[in-house]
Amino acid sequence: MASYLKKKEGNGMVGKAPEKEQPAQIKKELLNDRRAAIEEAMRKLIEGNGRFVDGKHSNYDIRKRREELVSGQKPFAMVVDCADSRTSPEIVFDAGLGDLFVVRKAGNFVEPGDLGTLEYGAAHLKCPVLVVMGHQSCGAINAACKSDSAEGNISFVVKPLQEAVNAANRNPDAASRENVKVVIKQIREKSPLISRLEKEGALKVVGAYYSLESGKVEFFNA
Ligand SMILES: [Zn+2]
Repeated sequence: MASYLKKKEGNGMVGKAPEKEQPAQIKKELLNDRRAAIEEAMRKLIEGNGRFVDGKHSNYDIRKRREELVSGQKPFAMVVDCADSRTSPEIVFDAGLGDLFVVRKAGNFVEPGDLGTLEYGAAHLKCPVLVVMGHQSCGAINAACKSDSAEGNISFVVKPLQEAVNAANRNPDAASRENVKVVIKQIREKSPLISRLEKEGALKVVGAYYSLESGKVEFFNA
């Protein structure tokens, strides 16, 4: 909005343009900005994962970046990911400090606090992309395929995965992909804010599956 207003100011049009036309025009320009931000974020994720697959990684001055980030963060994507130590999004997408806003938990499902975290990322940090990522050989999914209960608090991990596990006939890798679809459906249902931003075209919600073997992240619409 700031750049639009500045441009108008430069043209000496402040106060001259018909009032009723401005909101629609501003909305259109904002939406175009958001579309560009979505494309840019997806490009960064895909290219970053490409570097990771090729065994390369970006070098940057991490101390300088840390200092730059003291005044605020502007991550370009949110990632809902498993706690599995082999799937760290910053590494898998060759991203840097301050680039990704991440929610991690065994089985990459979402609970109310996670939804609140994602709403903060979408509405306040204005992240243009939300990735829900499952992965190959997920221990939480494997456990959920075997039983809907487990010792101690692990039950709170395997229970929420049952919808996906049942839909995938208890096949672990199919269940991992299915779980991404279930989680995205739940995010849309339980977060009117994220659902609205997605419908407006201000946010892209996308599924992903990470292969431990190849290192490749496959994106898919869900
Ligand atoms: Zn996992």
